[in-house]
Amino acid sequence: MDLLNTLVDKGLRRETPTREEALAVLATSDDDVLDVVAAAGKVRRHWFGRRVKLNYLVNLKSGLCPEDCSYCSQRLGSQAGILKYTWLKPDEASRAAAAGVAGGAKRVCLVASGRGPTDRDVDRVSDTIRTIKEQNEGVEVCACLGLLSDGQAERLRSAGADAYNHNLNTSEATYGDITTTHTYADRVDTVNKAHSAGLSACSGLIAGMGESDEDLVDVVFALRELDPDSVPVNFLIPFEGTPLANEWNLTPQRCLRILAMVRFVCPDVEVRIAGGREVHLRTLQPLALHLANSVFLGDYLTSEGQAGRADLEMIADAGFEVEGTDRLTLPEHRLPGGCGSHHGAGCGAHEGAGCEAHEDGVAGASDSAPQAGEPRTDLVAVRRRGAGTDLAPNA
Ligand code: SF4
Repeated sequence: MDLLNTLVDKGLRRETPTREEALAVLATSDDDVLDVVAAAGKVRRHWFGRRVKLNYLVNLKSGLCPEDCSYCSQRLGSQAGILKYTWLKPDEASRAAAAGVAGGAKRVCLVASGRGPTDRDVDRVSDTIRTIKEQNEGVEVCACLGLLSDGQAERLRSAGADAYNHNLNTSEATYGDITTTHTYADRVDTVNKAHSAGLSACSGLIAGMGESDEDLVDVVFALRELDPDSVPVNFLIPFEGTPLANEWNLTPQRCLRILAMVRFVCPDVEVRIAGGREVHLRTLQPLALHLANSVFLGDYLTSEGQAGRADLEMIADAGFEVEGTDRLTLPEHRLPGGCGSHHGAGCGAHEGAGCEAHEDGVAGASDSAPQAGEPRTDLVAVRRRGAGTDLAPNA
């Protein structure tokens, strides 16, 4: 296919595709999905080889958020039966982080629900970052605390944070349909604050909220413009008790096309499969490793992922390798002092930003096989272990 050959050439040159080319990737048919994966896979391997970076989420503060992000199980008025707790103490957070590091995670993503941190919250998280860094040598820490005020990014950087995550989530045109309590511009501002403070910026999207192909291309092009080091791609988990509970819009093939489009538009950036991996890609998860070079290990913020061991087996079986701390995630030209753009390393994911997923691989115990495209509520399980509970984390 000429389209795919063109996109591979551009990806290897770090050249931006046209909007029409990005839209054409999303419009390819299921018959062509393996060709699309093979083409985007060439770009992925050129910049990242067969390495997969593992990231581990620690939900520092869960639920009770005053914001109204429709996709989020922690939102104002959410009826989802998620864990609700206030700030974990530094040692509690460090214990959870250590479980992820022991499971192979290179980065720990510290996430807290809420519009944004107070200065006291930044102090708290700074203590937690220092504790984690003292107790887990070499670990990268990404903070994800919502909208930042002036000076907060610098303070997190001084405490040892490597990165800051704040997702754009969807296109500017549709942002107001998803959230009314803050704006798209607020989100852009926070990503820029992280950049300016010397933090590695991480910003991504949520697919499956009823958006058009144009919206998806808009948000991915906006991300390319912001130039984060990492782009988490969340697939909406339509959580019961949230306004988007009935938005079951994704198929595994659609998820692969979206990841391929992101890879072509952001060829040399850490593309991370985030929440919804198990729920929407299901048995096609290994194909997505040919597109993304990063995943979350184990559980998400408010829902359970497949067993950490299953993540590791999947990576090995698909012929990939877990990226060690001895390897740089990003290509050299993206490192500080490199000839391309800024900052080091890759990143995490924010809040309800689709940071939720399923159970322990206990895929539907129903008698009849589920049909492609039908809602898979059976794959969504609220997190009941790890941070904020007495049970061991999944890592
Ligand atoms: S995404 Fe973040 S800000 Fe929005 S409702 Fe969820 S926790 Fe609150």
